[in-house]
Amino acid sequence: MSAVNCLFCNIISGQIPCAKIYEDQHVLAFLDINPIAPGHTLVLPKPHYPTLLDLAPGQGEALLQALRKVGAAVQKATNAPGFNVMQNNFSAAGQVIFHLHFHVIPRFDNDGLPDWAGKPYADNAAMQRMAQAIASIL
Ligand code: AMP
Ligand code: ZN
Repeated sequence: MSAVNCLFCNIISGQIPCAKIYEDQHVLAFLDINPIAPGHTLVLPKPHYPTLLDLAPGQGEALLQALRKVGAAVQKATNAPGFNVMQNNFSAAGQVIFHLHFHVIPRFDNDGLPDWAGKPYADNAAMQRMAQAIASIL
């Protein structure tokens, strides 16, 4: 499965070049062209799934193992004490390329990258209502 006008499908097929990090039967990883930090890598399934919600059953294990492998290598190569794995779904969440991909970002203490500020629920009842609203859909 591939989409002709998808940039990442064209990278996977070799029509558009990339700085390749890792490839196996199911997964490709390459450097992000506009990195948040040097070594910022994208890890993606080869089939064209627009978002995480489209990922076919059974495809997750290969992705997760590639993320572990690539994450460890990015961390080692950049001497980073930590790394983030991030993944955007839909425009509101910052998704620009609609071929599922995970960002692996090396992190350093006090590197200036923004941390997400948490905001508590109004009270425990509000938290329970939210949990119920989500759980009732599953
Ligand atoms: P997202 O906002 O999660 O959809 O992320 C898309 C990412 O793809 C951005 O971080 C871009 O810098 C990156 N990107 C766009 N074009 C290329 C390319 N040709 N090669 C590598 N990374 C790219
Ligand atoms: Zn694609």
